[in-house]
Amino acid sequence: MSDDPRSLIVVNGLRVEIDRDLCVGFGDCVTESPASFELDDEGIAVFNTPQSADRGELLEACATCPVDAITVYEDDVAIIP
Ligand code: SF4
Repeated sequence: MSDDPRSLIVVNGLRVEIDRDLCVGFGDCVTESPASFELDDEGIAVFNTPQSADRGELLEACATCPVDAITVYEDDVAIIP
């Protein structure tokens, strides 16, 4: 996993990773929380400003990914997917 800040971030006590190789760009995460995610020029998800989304909204957006491209860790334990 890359440490690219577009695809790895620590926010609200959570470490969130986007696997850009798995992302297929459906945009469900963007629809759920446009503050947290956006699609880049390649149509692949990157972080927008997840610091501006509340924790629940961010978690909902992460959980909505149909291909499990977003992993969320809390205290080094994966809680999504
Ligand atoms: S929901 Fe998953 S597959 Fe869809 S854009 Fe977001 S990360 Fe990519």
